[in-house]
Order: sequence, then structure tokens, then C-alpha cells
Amino acid sequence: MAYATVNPFTGQLVKTFPDATDAEVQAAIAAADAAFQGWRRTSFADRAAVMRQAATILRRDADAFARLLTLEMGKLFVEAKAEVELSAEIFEYYADNAERLLEPEALPVKSPAEGRAVLVCEPLGVIMAVEPWNFPYYQIARIIAPQLSAGNTVLLKHASNVPQSAAAFDALMREAGLPDGAFRNLYATRSQVEAIISDPRVHGVALTGSEDAGAIVAAQAGKALKKSTMELGGADAFVVLADADLDKTVKWAVFGRHWNGGQVCVSSKRMIVVDAVHDAFLERYAAGVADLRCGDPMSPDTTLAPLSSQKAADEVRQKIAEAVAHGATATAVGPAVPTTGAFVQPTILTNVADDNPARYWEFFGPVSMIFRARDEDDAVRIANDSPYGLGGSVFTTDTRRGEEMARRISTGMVFVNHPTMVKADLPFGGVRRSGYGRELIGLGIREFVNHKLIDVV
Ligand code: NDP
Repeated sequence: MAYATVNPFTGQLVKTFPDATDAEVQAAIAAADAAFQGWRRTSFADRAAVMRQAATILRRDADAFARLLTLEMGKLFVEAKAEVELSAEIFEYYADNAERLLEPEALPVKSPAEGRAVLVCEPLGVIMAVEPWNFPYYQIARIIAPQLSAGNTVLLKHASNVPQSAAAFDALMREAGLPDGAFRNLYATRSQVEAIISDPRVHGVALTGSEDAGAIVAAQAGKALKKSTMELGGADAFVVLADADLDKTVKWAVFGRHWNGGQVCVSSKRMIVVDAVHDAFLERYAAGVADLRCGDPMSPDTTLAPLSSQKAADEVRQKIAEAVAHGATATAVGPAVPTTGAFVQPTILTNVADDNPARYWEFFGPVSMIFRARDEDDAVRIANDSPYGLGGSVFTTDTRRGEEMARRISTGMVFVNHPTMVKADLPFGGVRRSGYGRELIGLGIREFVNHKLIDVV
């Protein structure tokens, strides 16, 4: 049984869940397809009412929802509460905007004699969502709020370490008034996911997770000729220019690298600091990291969470060792972390040379790679020297220069004077090995619709 709740703070196995049977999977596909036939004909107002109700329930039961996140994947309770609120905001965003975002678009015609041409957005049908454990609710909200608002229905395969969070969201949507079958969580195996993707009643797949999982699932979608979106890893650059306000910059750098235990695809994983301020930045950054307090993620005094599992912690330690074996310098920072629980000692990696493979990895934990850039051009070169292209940031007091730098950084999102931000009303997605497609706002709701031309002559 792969699906299980294990508390990463204590290592205790809390509960296991049996895999779905093939019959359950078939029944879920049939129910999602049947629900689609009715749901696609509901009005935007009816769908918005369900979205609003979901937001209301999330806020009403925020503590209980958040406690489950902290139990299953170890994030700080305060961050879990923020994730519940963010999920509610995403539902509200689509309640407020879905109709406008999918409005038919009249195409310009040369003369009235040519008649009228209009593009309308029609839902495709059942969409498969494969989601990761790092933001168990936000990741679901980010796909189901736009897809349900567009008139699609959704099947979910969530990560195997967050089964209760997945079930909580399933129950949430039922209570919010979603018709039976329109959204269903399945404890699906990998072969069942493949079977779902190839089923003719399923019309697309969205995955957030690792490159390995993305490559496999995207190939399955390609084989079945289905549309897919992939939100994969990232190694965001955090560029510090000579005129940056160092106090603010260091504060954001420590946060950007360590929130959610450092397990965010848009964590600030590579600090790229121009020579003039490199040493001052490094000294202050190390002091900021040393101030983080590991401990019980439920406690308000804790500022650095355990990782999501012992396996995840072991993998990060292994990657640090490999980086060092290839010539990097690893500096352990701050007081020793607890020996029980999935904690990883905060670590700063320097001297990560061009030929060190670790330079191009995603460290999913409290590991900061720090690079010295000769000047701004060199900072851009290092920032773009990555297989990933998700987010990034530039810190400078000259915001116009910051914006110019942002345009030179080759990623899907760049922020000036803030680590990459996740908000209900901003798009999310990347380029290169960070995947393809966009989530949220109008871009997300239009990923799985038929952009249909109606031409009246
Ligand atoms: P995975 O990519 O393995 O997991 C993400 C989701 O994909 C889970 O639901 C997982 O299910 C599922 N999955 C994995 N392989 C397949 C497959 N062949 N067919 C169908 N579904 C599949 O991430 P991990 O949890 O293993 O994390 C590994 C690394 O991935 C991290 O260290 C990090 O670098 C990156 N990652 C990036 C994330 C992001 O937000 N971009 C989020 C999570 C991880 P199951 O849990 O059952 O394996």
C-alpha cells in the first residue's frame, strides 16, 4: 500500500490507505464523464456559487484543514494556514472572473459582407490531475478551480504521502455542492494513471512534480494524443545587484530559500551576487539562516520545518555529498538540527564550479548555492545557465534597472525585489525543463478548452 500518512516530524506511521481497485477507477471515469454532460451546461453563476462555497468552507475550517497539511508533509502550521487561505482565494478568483475570461471573442472581418467570425471556449471533458505533496491543497485548487469553472470535470491522483489532504479536498467539494463525480480523488497506481490517460473519455492531463514524472506522464499523454500541461522543477536565481538594500534583500533571501522547508519549485535556490556586495551578502545571509529554528512544525516558535519525508531528507543529504565530491564547499549553518524527524541541516554551497553537475540540480530542501558574479552581465549569464526556467528575482534599488534585468532572465516569471511569488491572480509556469503550459488566471482556464471557431457567412 503506497498511500500512507507518516508524520515527518516524528517519523510515526499514522494511517495507510489501500490502492484504488481497477473497478473503482473505471467507475470514477464513468462518473466524471457522466457528470461532465450535465456540468458543462450549468451557468457560470452556478459554477461560481460552488467555488464560493468551497472558499467559505476552507475559511470556516481553516485550522482543521491546515493541521492535516502539517501532519502529513510537515509544513509549518502558520504556512499551512496561509495555503488554505490561498486556495480559498483561487476559488474566489475564478468565481469572480471565469465568465469574463472565457467570453466569446469576435474576430475582425474585412467587411460586413464576409459575415461574422467568433471564437468560443468550450470545455473538453474529463481532465486528469497528477499533483505533488509540497502544497497539497494549493496544487489541487490551482487545477480544479479553473477547470471546473470552465465546465470540465477532474480526476485526481495526489502524491502518496498526502492521502488525507486529498480526501479532505474531495469532501470539501462535495460539501460545496459539486455534483457527484465532477471531482474525485483516487488512490491510483501508476499503471492506473496511464490507463486513465489513454481512456477516450479523458481529454487532458495536468501534472505538477519532478521532471522524471513529467517526462513519463507527458509521453503517455502524447501517445494518446491528449493535451498536457507540465509544471516541473525549478532552480530560481536570486540576483543581488550592488545597489540592493542588503537588509531587505537578505531577509527575502532567507525566506525565499527556506519557506515550506525549502521544498518549493520556485524557492530561491541560487543566490547570484555581484562581486561588490558578495562577501557582505554571504556573511549576513549565513547569519540569517543560522537564526532559523527547527522544531515542531505546529509550534509558532518554529521557523524551519522538517522535510516532507525521511526519504526526501536522505535524498537532499546525498545530493549535498555528491556536490562536495565534485568540488563544492558545503558549510553547515546554525545549530545542529534534531536527530529525529526529517530535518536537514541548513547548508550553504559555494565554489560550485561550471563542471560540477550539482550546479544544475534542484535541491529540494534548505540548501543554498551562492555564486559570485563579476558584474551584472555575468549575473545574467549565471542565472540563465540552468536547465530550468521557472521563476527568479532581481534585487536592486533602481527598479528600472531591475526590470531591464528581469527581461534578460529566461524564465516564466521574474520578480523585482521579491522572491518568486505565488498568488491567486498571477500566472504560474515556466520554460525549458520547468515544463510547459501556464496555470492560474486566464491562461490556466484556457488550457483545457476547445477554442472553437464559429463563422457565420
Ligand atoms: P514526483 O514527481 O515523483 O511526484 C509528483 C506526483 O507525480 C505524485 O503524485 C507522484 O505519485 C506522481 N508520479 C510520479 N511518477 C509517476 C508516474 N510514473 N505516473 C504517474 N504519476 C507519477 O515527485 P517526488 O515526490 O518524488 O519528488 C522528487 C523531486 O521532484 C523533488 O525532490 C523535487 O525536485 C521535484 N518536485 C517538484 C515539485 C514542484 O512543485 N515542481 C513538487 C514535488 C517534487 P507518488 O507520490 O505516488 O509517487
